[in-house]
Amino acid sequence: MNCIKCGISVPENQVFCDTCLADMEKYPVKPDVTVVLPQRKEAVVSKKKSRKRTIPPEEQLRRVKSRLRLAHLTLAVVFICFLLVAAMLLKYLQG
Ligand SMILES: [Zn+2]
Repeated sequence: MNCIKCGISVPENQVFCDTCLADMEKYPVKPDVTVVLPQRKEAVVSKKKSRKRTIPPEEQLRRVKSRLRLAHLTLAVVFICFLLVAAMLLKYLQG
């Protein structure tokens, strides 16, 4: 269990740590006041989950190859377009 105010580890049956309890004792909140708890840092568990998993080399190679194929295809399409434009321009210039 962690203190719901500051996030520090507290005994199982406790909601706030001793520091926060003492703090709140010093500055009591009136009953009709809305209290906004500070944003806590992500828990360690979720940090581990979001960490990038390592990709096996075969998969990396496959991805690079497919990306390279796409690049080649794009280049070919651009080149064909260029040839078409050039041919049309030549035809136009020749009358
Ligand atoms: Zn606390």
